Amino acid sequence: TAFVAPVAAGHSYYDGSEKATSKALISNALARRISSINIDNCEAGGEDAFFVADLGEVYRQHLRWKLNLPRIEPFYAVKCNPDPQVLRLLANLGCGFDCASKKEIESVLSMDISPSRIIYAHPCKTASFIRYAASEGVEHMTFDNAEELYKCQRYFPSARLLLRIATDDSKALCRLSVKYGAPLDSTASLLALAKDLGLNVVGVSFHVGSGTYDPTAYISAVEDARHVFDEGADLGFDMKLLDVGGGYGHKNFEAIASVLGPAVDQYFPSNVRVIAEPGRYYVASAFTVAAHVIARRTVVDPLTGESSFMLYLNDGVYGNFSGVMFDHQTPIPKVLTNRDGFWYGKKREDGERVVKYSIWGPTCDGLDCISSESYLPEVVEVGDWLYFSEMGAYSKCSATKFNGFSDDHEIIYVSSEPGAAALLQG
Ligand code: PLP
Repeated sequence: TAFVAPVAAGHSYYDGSEKATSKALISNALARRISSINIDNCEAGGEDAFFVADLGEVYRQHLRWKLNLPRIEPFYAVKCNPDPQVLRLLANLGCGFDCASKKEIESVLSMDISPSRIIYAHPCKTASFIRYAASEGVEHMTFDNAEELYKCQRYFPSARLLLRIATDDSKALCRLSVKYGAPLDSTASLLALAKDLGLNVVGVSFHVGSGTYDPTAYISAVEDARHVFDEGADLGFDMKLLDVGGGYGHKNFEAIASVLGPAVDQYFPSNVRVIAEPGRYYVASAFTVAAHVIARRTVVDPLTGESSFMLYLNDGVYGNFSGVMFDHQTPIPKVLTNRDGFWYGKKREDGERVVKYSIWGPTCDGLDCISSESYLPEVVEVGDWLYFSEMGAYSKCSATKFNGFSDDHEIIYVSSEPGAAALLQG
């Protein structure tokens, strides 16, 4: 877990762009780690899958957020990737944290972060976790149903509550409003109940669905939130906090920001504090995973006589590729090739023949398939390594130990931004 110093300007890999620096650092770290493994005599598991994390990428995502949504304070969704270095970096950058459980709250508080920088953003909480939040002074929490209000009254009557409303999440990768969020026709009665119970409602939250590809979903949600703010204010609540949730992709972020920022300004005066709960936005692009090819099978099509190949890796959907099942991910394999003792990422050359592969994890389950169809530029052998970029979100955090395989893979940290490394070392 040691830091690798950033590549200095003038280094042969450096072409002036941060992305190139990041790529070079990741390639170097992959090559160095893999070259240190001798599969003929390493300990059992010595060739386990591992990650390279470029914390410079997380740092840049934060600057990008600040530039595009200066009014909205990010509370990083810890569930997405609770990596301690990511949490530390974001804490030092001034982020808040969205926690969903006692463990997540604990890990943030253990970094000496004030409980005021945490929102317990789970509308259906375990009673003992509410008591824990109360004992630690984590005051902000969400609710979306009457039973939750009774629980809050019993265990934390002075909590600052946000009413989570349902949204149109039909254009999101992972729909969340099927499970959470109060329908708009129930918000008035929920607020009235909160009033009767003597509770303190301070705002509204929503989540348009994780990985949304429809920026306009944010506009409707902001309009709905305004309506519920007014309902709360009519009952005498001091409504001062709007939480615009998560869902931001790193590819469509500017498109979302360009509608969300103006919508927030249009519907909410500047004395309303606005926070968000981005998860994947911060970490997806920062993590790369490398896995070892443990087996290969040739399959001959009985009709055409064509060969294709099945590759078995030592990581799969029960491991760090859990996002294939839970997050609709489609990981793209790239080959690391060993030539003269040096491992390097193989670029596809013009006209190079590609071969069809399906890529499988190591467990006994037929569902453990990372990719049913991938075309790789050359014949990949047992003992080779594949790597996959964009593996920072909903990956390691939902890995299991199924079949006795490890759920705890090494992470090598690099930083393509000197600022990120300085914040962590200082
Ligand atoms: N906030 C809540 C309440 C969530 O349930 C989630 C994801 O499920 C997030 C934030 C983070 O979403 P994303 O990673 O899409 O930004």
